[in-house]
Amino acid sequence: MKILVIEDEPKAAAYLRQGLTESGYAVEVAYNGTDGLHAAANGDHGLVILDVMLPGVDGFAVLSALRTSRQVPVLMLTARGETDDKVRGFDLGADDYLVKPFQFPELLARVRALLKRGQPVTGEPVLRAADLEIDPVRHRATRAGQRIDLSAKEFALLTLLAQKTGEVLSRTQIASLVWDIHFDSDTNVVEVAIRRLRAKIDDPFEEKLIHTVRGVGYVLERRTAP
Ligand code: CA
Repeated sequence: MKILVIEDEPKAAAYLRQGLTESGYAVEVAYNGTDGLHAAANGDHGLVILDVMLPGVDGFAVLSALRTSRQVPVLMLTARGETDDKVRGFDLGADDYLVKPFQFPELLARVRALLKRGQPVTGEPVLRAADLEIDPVRHRATRAGQRIDLSAKEFALLTLLAQKTGEVLSRTQIASLVWDIHFDSDTNVVEVAIRRLRAKIDDPFEEKLIHTVRGVGYVLERRTAP
């Protein structure tokens, strides 16, 4: 796992590099905001440790520019414990904040937490129904080996139906689980989404998997013998 440290003070940078390297991370250091931003935007780091006080382009400017291009977790460091800095950092999209001087174990704990948060949840199995496959971790759906392009909501809806294969889900249930809508009147959104999903999942294929249960809701299941 690669970590980018953006810190102008050589001593502080060396301390971070050594500690993180000893903890098993590959560390790259940038000594000013311009180089740091370039490295962060173009690299494949799992985390950026960003000092606020940098000559020229400061940490806030780096963060705000970085947020337009990459969603890498950012841990901000500051010598000042000012609440304003903290609020500003979080507003700009920092994931965590640490005030200097800090104890290394404290930094390490935050680094580990941020890296863990950024990792995909493992152990979610691939869901299958006939030749339909849904990989919740990689956010991919295929049918008969063909990749199916789905919007985020369509993917969530399909995943829900596939997790409950053979179980009829009401429009209200679906609206609440996928859209967080908790009243009956807006369940039209479900019908529209089901129609779109069917156009992608079922229409091009002979075997239909999404079925309407009149007056109840929808179910995903195989109804024809293989
Ligand atoms: Ca500094």
